Amino acid sequence: MHAIVKTTPGPGAVYGPWPAPSKLGLRDILVRVEATSICGTDMQIYDWHELMAHRVKPPLIMGHEFAGKVVEAGKEVSDLREGDIVSGETHINCGKCFQCRTGNGHICERMLLRGVDTDGCFAEYHLLHEGSAWLNDKKIPIEIASAQEPLGNAVHAASAAEISGNKVAIFGCGPIGACLIGLCKSFGASKIFGVDIVDYRLNLAKKMGGDVLINGSQENPVKRIMDLTDGRGVDVFFEMSGAPPSFEEGFKVLRPGGTAVLFGLPSKNVEMDVANWIVFKDARVRGVFGRRLWGTWYKTAEVLKAGEVDLSKVITHRFALEEFEKAFTLMKSGHSGKIVMYPNRKPPSN
Ligand SMILES: [Zn+2]
Ligand SMILES: [Zn+2]
Repeated sequence: MHAIVKTTPGPGAVYGPWPAPSKLGLRDILVRVEATSICGTDMQIYDWHELMAHRVKPPLIMGHEFAGKVVEAGKEVSDLREGDIVSGETHINCGKCFQCRTGNGHICERMLLRGVDTDGCFAEYHLLHEGSAWLNDKKIPIEIASAQEPLGNAVHAASAAEISGNKVAIFGCGPIGACLIGLCKSFGASKIFGVDIVDYRLNLAKKMGGDVLINGSQENPVKRIMDLTDGRGVDVFFEMSGAPPSFEEGFKVLRPGGTAVLFGLPSKNVEMDVANWIVFKDARVRGVFGRRLWGTWYKTAEVLKAGEVDLSKVITHRFALEEFEKAFTLMKSGHSGKIVMYPNRKPPSN
């Protein structure tokens, strides 16, 4: 088969022939990948950011967001069969540790991440345990099924704070930030501020329901948000970018007593003014990682079914898997929403 492989430690990746997964365990399924989407984590692995350089052990097939067809199921697989359309949870949990046994499998003590610690899905075929597969409704378009995983991140982030009737500021309007804006709109936020440094993404944020879009490279987001909130600030600050200036700006516009939800992964340590940003403000700070297993997946499926977030607006580009360099370059430019790659067929036109 063909795959995108991180062959050596350092920037870059290679597309080419690679051995297909061959050892199907009793409870494994083999999936023909129909659509696979690019995530910020993939970019960090490709660029060999510090965070990933410490973790990823090449050679490794990259990628973790996908939807595909089950082509083979192990002898003891009970609930899935050939022809089913599945997606996969990125967090591969052990099911046995303290966190797993107390309902927190997404922060398992022995957790592995698909496409980071184990071979991923930027390939024609992908093997996974039935326990980390999600059965899709066949009516869902394949690329939307692939992008459910990041929508799940947004659903998990939105669940970490009270949105209804509140003013929220979302720093980072990439695909997950844009989904989050759609969710905040549908959950009844009274005002949604979106901050990014790329106009393309701010337009996407507007399409998803953002009220005030601020280009942080052209104007000071802190001043603009404070001006528009009578000098009080927002009730909820979501950090979705991982860019160090966003932490400072976000905490500065958070009102005393407000909630900060941190999702973006900075590639290096970020300096924080703990006294002024958190303690004096009596702020609540929540880290959010992945999705709750499997509560967030059920919620996300309902969000899609109810049409609360139109994911098709967030998916902006499609490529064949072999065109990954083009896709990654576009993603890095910020002039895209979610990008989907097709390993086994010609991509639909954009
Ligand atoms: Zn992802
Ligand atoms: Zn565990």
